[in-house]
Amino acid sequence: MRASVIVVGGGPVGLMLAGELRLGGADVLLLERRHRVTTESRASTLHARTMEILDSRGLLDPLGGPPNLPRGHFGGLPMDLTLPGSHPGQWKVPQARTEELLEKWAGSLGAGIRRGYELVTLTVTEEGVETAVTGPDGVPRTVRGDYLVGCDGEESTVRRLTGAAFPGHDAVRELLRADVAGIDIPDRRFERLPAGLAIAARQPGGVTRVMVHEFGRKFVERSTPPEFGEIAEVWRRVTGEEIGAGTPLWVNSFGDASRQLTHYRHGRVLFAGDAAHRQLPVGGQALNLGLQDAVNLGWKLAAVALGQAPQELLDTYHDERHPVGRRVLANIEAQARLLLGGAEVEPLRALVGELLGYDDVRRRLAGTISGLDVRYDLGVARGAHALLGRRVPDVPLTVAGAPTRPAELLRTGRGVLLLLADRALNSALTVLAEAWADRVDPVTAETPADGPLAGVAALLIRPDGHVAWCATGPGDPQAALRRWFGPAGTRPSPSSER
Ligand SMILES: Cc1cc2nc3c(=O)[nH]c(=O)nc-3n(C[C@H](O)[C@H](O)[C@H](O)COP(=O)(O)OP(=O)(O)OC[C@H]3O[C@@H](n4cnc5c(N)ncnc54)[C@H](O)[C@@H]3O)c2cc1C
Repeated sequence: MRASVIVVGGGPVGLMLAGELRLGGADVLLLERRHRVTTESRASTLHARTMEILDSRGLLDPLGGPPNLPRGHFGGLPMDLTLPGSHPGQWKVPQARTEELLEKWAGSLGAGIRRGYELVTLTVTEEGVETAVTGPDGVPRTVRGDYLVGCDGEESTVRRLTGAAFPGHDAVRELLRADVAGIDIPDRRFERLPAGLAIAARQPGGVTRVMVHEFGRKFVERSTPPEFGEIAEVWRRVTGEEIGAGTPLWVNSFGDASRQLTHYRHGRVLFAGDAAHRQLPVGGQALNLGLQDAVNLGWKLAAVALGQAPQELLDTYHDERHPVGRRVLANIEAQARLLLGGAEVEPLRALVGELLGYDDVRRRLAGTISGLDVRYDLGVARGAHALLGRRVPDVPLTVAGAPTRPAELLRTGRGVLLLLADRALNSALTVLAEAWADRVDPVTAETPADGPLAGVAALLIRPDGHVAWCATGPGDPQAALRRWFGPAGTRPSPSSER
């Protein structure tokens, strides 16, 4: 088997990446050792930025209308996550549903998704990558490619095989969790009791999810999930309630380990999602961070694999996503301390709780948790336009007399040169961008003069929705077009054409 890009791991991040690579035109093979999508009750939250991204790929309709909760938390302290945008707040979507949606989408775009295939070895040469894979029949196979992306989760085999440095710390505290049928206990939302932290939420259908941490209890190294009896015993010690007579449907434990790869790119091998960063799975941030890694990487890797763009474009994946990951991990670490600390953190909790009452503080933390505050450093010069490097705002547009929005213009996964000036300037910019017509769509539009794009004459929007160039008057987008989409008029080399 051979593909231009091999994606290892068909969790949400690998599936998102496979779809993005196909949108960019790359030939992709995804290897997943599980035979079917997980039914495990894992992350259940999609944050505002992820919803915007799914919107820009036309994936919100198939998702249905998930419940929206404006209120989230910071380390268990209630906090309103609402910020301006098209999908404020957090959206409750079981991870199994997200994976099902992404698998269908990536498959419909032509990604080769191979379930029951486990990567065992990896060799990287100057010419490409070669892997040994065990197939569903147990027979070993060789899979070759030009690039390989490890999206194989927190215990990443690709990370181990490449020996990539993964500094940070192991878990010191543990949360125990179970979905239990046949119990009737009160709901508890991050309830701090003298002996520990308890969370209970009765779900539609009558199953109750319990989650518990006993203050001072050390992390337990495990090779298998905990016994339900152990969880029931800790629950009893913390809450005084008996749940041992219930039927456990799923048990799980997790810790507060925090690690991040030093480099997200190792030549022809790259990493995204939990394979690149390990963190306490709190508030859905891990899943959302990973999906956003995939959307930053997909179009860049596709362009480089197709020979359209130089290697430097691929380096910007690490340059942009590593600092974002570092910031989110620090945010999660701070939350872990507030959440899992005993009586000694009460003064800190009181102080943070008080600070959250200030809207500036709330907005800043909500910006990180929602992913809406990301601004990539595009060599932003002093005095650069405030939109440069940020996600394009959701504004009403009129194109050829019809209403639309930036998210709709991004559905093809191509770049967009949004032309908002007068006819003469629009035509001049269209001519300048003609040589990139195979990668970037010039779109002449109108937008309300008092909206977020007031005074903007033209915007170059990358496929991931971030603004790569912005002009308030006559300007030349060619340097930005070259930087983000490769040299003018480059066509894919015949060998990499699909
Ligand atoms: C048990 C568990 C519970 C969680 N609970 C929560 C939660 O409550 N809230 C929350 O926010 N987050 C939670 N998370 C975290 C969240 O699920 C992850 O952040 C998210 O799944 C990351 O997606 P990913 O695609 O990077 O990795 P994963 O979803 O881990 O996907 C990696 C995939 O790679 C595959 N794979 C691994 N090795 C190989 C190989 N050698 N060859 C082929 N395939 C391979 C795996 O089978 C897996 O499907 C939980 C994670 C786990 C594991």
